[in-house]
Amino acid sequence: MGNLLIRNAQIVTMNKGEEIIQGDIYIEDNIIKEIGTNLRKNRVNQVIDATNRTVIPGFVQTHIHLCQTLFRGKGDDLELMDWLRQRIWPLEAAHDEESIYYSAMLGIGELLESGTTTIVDMETVHHTEYAFRAIAESGIRAVSGKVMMDKGEEVPLALQEKTAESIQQSVDLLEKWNGFDDGRIQYAFSPRFVVSCTEALLKEVKVLSDLFNVKVHTHASENKGEIQIVQEETGMRNVVYLDHLGLANDRLILAHCVWLDEEEKRIIKDKGVHVSHCPGSNLKLASGIADTHQLVCNHASVSLGADGAPCNNNLDMFNEMRLAALIQKPIHGPTAMDARTVFRMATIGGARAVGLEDEIGSIEVGKKADLAILNLQNFHTFPSYDVDPISRIVYSATRADVETTIVDGKILMDKGIMKTVDKPVVLKEADNSIKRLLKYSNII
Ligand SMILES: [Zn+2]
Repeated sequence: MGNLLIRNAQIVTMNKGEEIIQGDIYIEDNIIKEIGTNLRKNRVNQVIDATNRTVIPGFVQTHIHLCQTLFRGKGDDLELMDWLRQRIWPLEAAHDEESIYYSAMLGIGELLESGTTTIVDMETVHHTEYAFRAIAESGIRAVSGKVMMDKGEEVPLALQEKTAESIQQSVDLLEKWNGFDDGRIQYAFSPRFVVSCTEALLKEVKVLSDLFNVKVHTHASENKGEIQIVQEETGMRNVVYLDHLGLANDRLILAHCVWLDEEEKRIIKDKGVHVSHCPGSNLKLASGIADTHQLVCNHASVSLGADGAPCNNNLDMFNEMRLAALIQKPIHGPTAMDARTVFRMATIGGARAVGLEDEIGSIEVGKKADLAILNLQNFHTFPSYDVDPISRIVYSATRADVETTIVDGKILMDKGIMKTVDKPVVLKEADNSIKRLLKYSNII
């Protein structure tokens, strides 16, 4: 490990005062050691001249399915349960070790290229080892886990698992990968959603997440049909049921939360549950619009995620930020969900959701160097004079404006060149893999 000096940048710190300063960032190994103007350093391994560039904390996406990246374009124009039963489950069931690896690499390539440095990822039932290998090799920061699903109708045979098996495989993966590379990889128990899980499984997840002190990552209240199934089976609404099982706490990350009642909102706030808002996915699957404005006003923890490639169809935080802001405005008025609120959700809010708010999510001395460098010298991001840089980033910038991505002090993408993901190989193997999966799954 070496040291790195980023010179003369506009720095969007996202520290407590949300200061935007002009200066240098000095990184030693993976830690930001100094921020200031004209820092004088001897023997710096690498210098990045960031004149006319904007440095931001790397984005944290709190809901992603790397195992679904290969299914991009294969689940268009369906609603959730049909999308799952007709497309996603058969394709997940067809996955093999190689296809999981390249699905993950394809997703990670897209994420790193567009400035996302941390993800909360949900894999499929089998071969999760190969997603972890891709995460490990690529250098991205990730909280990931194999999906758990020990019940459900119309689930392909290859995705059906016994409760004990699901738990044992999860614990085996946790023991191998949790804490890998100085904590860059963390394990999360990942029950798919209440519809797919027995009460016995969820109770065991509660016990084990306490025991190992790890996250629980699941979907909740995405779709009205899903809520109806949960109510019929448990007599409770999703979040109430999860709370009843003891799972509602600050280690729980709930994707979607589109249809919450007042009691569920209160539980989320009081128990410190983290909501991962996925506006692109919610719109495309016609699930609805989550009331994130109200959640944020009530000081609930809300962060952002793109979900999977087949329900979005990108893994691009710029898309999600823009949508997160715009979809609230027709409902709550133009001042709702301003650019700063959204940018907070995309950075420090995500860091809080993964329990790393002291380590990532802002540019401060002592924090890990997870950064993106943007080139906003473009027609679509000008004028710059007297415009809040955060407005430029949330409302005008695109992923093409990301010039460099740094995770844990390592440059993983620079001027479009991926350092750890072999783009030509990944693109070629992605096509080969999906061709194989379509054949096995009998979808085409
Ligand atoms: Zn999802």
